[in-house]
Amino acid sequence: MQLLRCTLVLVFLTCGVGTVAGQADLLIKNGQIVDGSGNPSYMGNITIHRGRIISVGLLEPAAKQVIDARGLVVAPGFIDVHTHAENVSKMPGATNFVRMGITTLVLGNCGGSKSDLGKFFKELEDRLITPNVASLIGHNSVRSRAMGGSFMRPPTDEELDEMKSTVDQAMKDGAVGLSTGLIYLPGTFANTEELIELAKVASKHGGIYVSHMRNEGDDIGEALEELMRIAREAKLPAHVSHIKASGQRNWGRSIETLKALALGRLEGLELTQDQYLYPASSTGIQNSIPQSYREGGLSKLKERLDDPETKAKIVKRMKDRLEKRGIADYEYAAIASWRRDRRLDGLRLPAAAKIRRGSDSLDDQLELIFEIARSGGASGVFYSQSEEDIRRFQQDPHTMFASDSSIRTYRLGVPHPRGYGNSARALSEYVRTHQLLSIEEAVRRMTSLPARQFRLKDRGMIRSGAWADLVVFDPASVKDNATFEQPHQYASGMRYVLVNGGVVVENDRHTGSRPGKIVRRGK
Ligand SMILES: [Zn+2]
Repeated sequence: MQLLRCTLVLVFLTCGVGTVAGQADLLIKNGQIVDGSGNPSYMGNITIHRGRIISVGLLEPAAKQVIDARGLVVAPGFIDVHTHAENVSKMPGATNFVRMGITTLVLGNCGGSKSDLGKFFKELEDRLITPNVASLIGHNSVRSRAMGGSFMRPPTDEELDEMKSTVDQAMKDGAVGLSTGLIYLPGTFANTEELIELAKVASKHGGIYVSHMRNEGDDIGEALEELMRIAREAKLPAHVSHIKASGQRNWGRSIETLKALALGRLEGLELTQDQYLYPASSTGIQNSIPQSYREGGLSKLKERLDDPETKAKIVKRMKDRLEKRGIADYEYAAIASWRRDRRLDGLRLPAAAKIRRGSDSLDDQLELIFEIARSGGASGVFYSQSEEDIRRFQQDPHTMFASDSSIRTYRLGVPHPRGYGNSARALSEYVRTHQLLSIEEAVRRMTSLPARQFRLKDRGMIRSGAWADLVVFDPASVKDNATFEQPHQYASGMRYVLVNGGVVVENDRHTGSRPGKIVRRGK
């Protein structure tokens, strides 16, 4: 390490004078540098010029601007490989992301992307954006375009050719790989052979295969096998999106899931995964009623609930579902926010039924769900994963931390808190409070690991020549503040966030600056 630092200082001395003409753009001095590699941190200074880091070490050259980072950590800007932030075109500031230290967003996940990425990238470049943006090409988007509304079948040869050429064009336009969302329409109707054919096109260009797999619960083993078969036959790296062991009776299956991935790596496959650091997913409480009974909107649902015969069928279906999952009641679900009765916010359904109806029986829980649905719904939090599984996945060195979020409109709706807090939570909850990860390791999972797997050149590391995507934070106070009940709270403790050398966050405020670039694969 010492030797490396000396070399960097020498490089600066020899080339710095000529290129910088005596003054760099920015000097960040006295920081505790966590460089993204996972190596131990060290004290030092970072010099930035024309958007890039030009020296890391002990030098203190003259600079137009100086940031004293004494007592603060300086790390590479975080890379969020799992976003649905296509709405960056409407909200170019991406405040919820940059406020938690994220400087590069990977779009196009779960099979959904813009199908003409060349055009989309051009739009973003014209618009000017705060974070950097990269994108996958989404299989569902490609398939819909080629097959129109008729997709419950394999594609014809012509349709498959068209899909391949759309993927090919997207890769030429700079996509980082192919994504699938195999529980969604129309991807769910694709067989593995179709996916292999398309993955081969991404592979030819050096891309990655990223998948929201066919199953994240009972059949996770088969789903992983499919992912690995695609990686093997199309010869490309593969990545599991938002890895989890979903549903109470699958709790503990993180062990066999990680083992299967480890065996795949032994075989020579390049496999990684991402996770969000929360034990719950969030959706409406009313969505506990089977979809077929909610079809046609609220008035139709009310009609069905008013008809005793239909209502009995609904109750039976819901009880059957619980039984099939091996659980007794709705203890795993909590009300996040219900306008009709604020006393119930934050309570699990049995406790809420007890207050609202005087009993926590399963029938009363169901009645409460129906009442909530009739009132237009309430947001809910579903504890479908165990904290133990989350920690086990988190301990695996191939796991990246990613938010699975879009750009939030401040104070609109009750979205999942991960969109405001995920990366800050890694630092506060898992590094500082529970000491489950070293700061160097937590940073590596959000910087060099994603940059390497997604082929984001000169990102994710603090080293001379890299783009100056940086985050300067207070390790003692950095914190995610968003909760399931009150998600619209920005992370705090980010003193500075820089994108390509431009300061986008200063003392927990967005500066309004838009220095973001489109990050094309390998460029
Ligand atoms: Zn997904």
